[in-house]
Amino acid sequence: MPPRSPARFVFLLLTFFSPAPVPTVAQTQSSSTYGPLPVFELHSGFWINLHHTLYHEARQHIAPAPPDKNSKTSEPAPKNTPEVKLTLTAAEQKAWGDAVAYYAANYAGKDLLFSTELIQLKDQLGDFEDCDELSGRKRKFCDAGLPAQLTQVLETAAPVYRAHLWPEHDRANRRWIQRVAPLVRDQGVGLSERLADIYQTRWPRAKIRVEIAGYANGDGAYTTVDPLRVTISSLDARNQGAEALEVLFHEASHGIAEPVQSAIVRECRQRDKAIPRDLWHALIFYTTGEVIRPLLTPAENAPPDTEDAVKPNINRPPPSRKETYTPYAIREGLYERGWKDYLQLLTRFWQPYLDNKSTFDDAVARMVSAL
Ligand SMILES: [Zn+2]
Repeated sequence: MPPRSPARFVFLLLTFFSPAPVPTVAQTQSSSTYGPLPVFELHSGFWINLHHTLYHEARQHIAPAPPDKNSKTSEPAPKNTPEVKLTLTAAEQKAWGDAVAYYAANYAGKDLLFSTELIQLKDQLGDFEDCDELSGRKRKFCDAGLPAQLTQVLETAAPVYRAHLWPEHDRANRRWIQRVAPLVRDQGVGLSERLADIYQTRWPRAKIRVEIAGYANGDGAYTTVDPLRVTISSLDARNQGAEALEVLFHEASHGIAEPVQSAIVRECRQRDKAIPRDLWHALIFYTTGEVIRPLLTPAENAPPDTEDAVKPNINRPPPSRKETYTPYAIREGLYERGWKDYLQLLTRFWQPYLDNKSTFDDAVARMVSAL
C-alpha cells in the first residue's frame, strides 16, 4: 500500500480537529471510543477487528505457521482463544472464504509488527472506524484510499463479520475496557509520570490510542510508532483481569523507552561489546511489572477477591512478602526462555535505580559492563 499522501494526512488532521459531524456509525454502539480516560484512548473499532480476525484466520490456514522470530513467545495464536465454528450460508461462506484466502495470499506471511504495509493498513482502518464502508461510494469522507481489491475484500467480508463474529468481539472488547478503565482512571496519570521519569523522558502529550480487538498478533498485543498506537487482544488469556493494566503500560512503554535503548547502545559502543538483543525489552517488562506490582497487590488482611480485578490502592503500605500480583514476564515465564541472565542484571543493577539508590546512567553502565 502506498504511503499516505500529504494531502490525505492534512485531510485527516482537519477531520479530527474540526467539529464537523462524523459519519454515521452503523453499529449497535454509538461510538467506538470509550472514555474519557486519562493517558489512553481506548477504541473498539469494527474494521481493525475485522482486519485482525482475517489475519488470524489466514495464519491458521497457512501451515506450518511461520515462527515469529521476534516474538517473545513462540506461539502464533492467542492463548486459550475459543475457536468459534460459524454457521454460514453458502454466499456468506464464499465471501468469508475469499477474504481469508486474500489475507493468506497477501498478508499472513508478513508480521503485523514489522511490515510497513500492515502497520499503515492497521492505522488507516483505525482512522475509518466510524465509517460503514471504505470505498467512499456513499460518503466521500469514507474513502479510506486502500487498494481497490482490498477495499472490495473487506467490504464483502464486513456483513458476514458484522452478523456472526463482531457482536461477540465488540462485547469482549468493551468488557475488557470496562474492567481496565477504573484502574486507568485511578492510576493512569501516576504510572505514566513514574514511567516517564524512570526512562528520563516525557509521556506523550496526546493520549495514546489503543485498539482493542478480538485478536492482535501472536503475542496478544503489539505497539507501532509514528504514530504511536497500541493493539491489544481482548480475548487473549494473558491480557485478562487486573493484568490488563500492566499490558497497557508495557505496550505504551515501547513508545517512550527509547532513551534506555540508546543508553545501552552507547555503553556497548564505549566498551566494544555486542549489543544485547532484547535487553531493553526485558528491561521494560521488568520495570512495568515492578512499578505496577505494589499497586495491584491487595492489602494483607483483605478478603480474597472473587473477581479477577484487584482493587488498586496507591496509599497502601509497601507490599509484604505475601504479595499476590505476579508481573507478566514472571507469570508467562519469559525470563525462562533465554532471558535469565537479563533478569539477574536487572535485579542487581536496575532495581537499585528503581529504588532511587543509583542513577540511570550508572545502572545502565553497570548492566552493560557485567554482560
Ligand atoms: Zn513488549
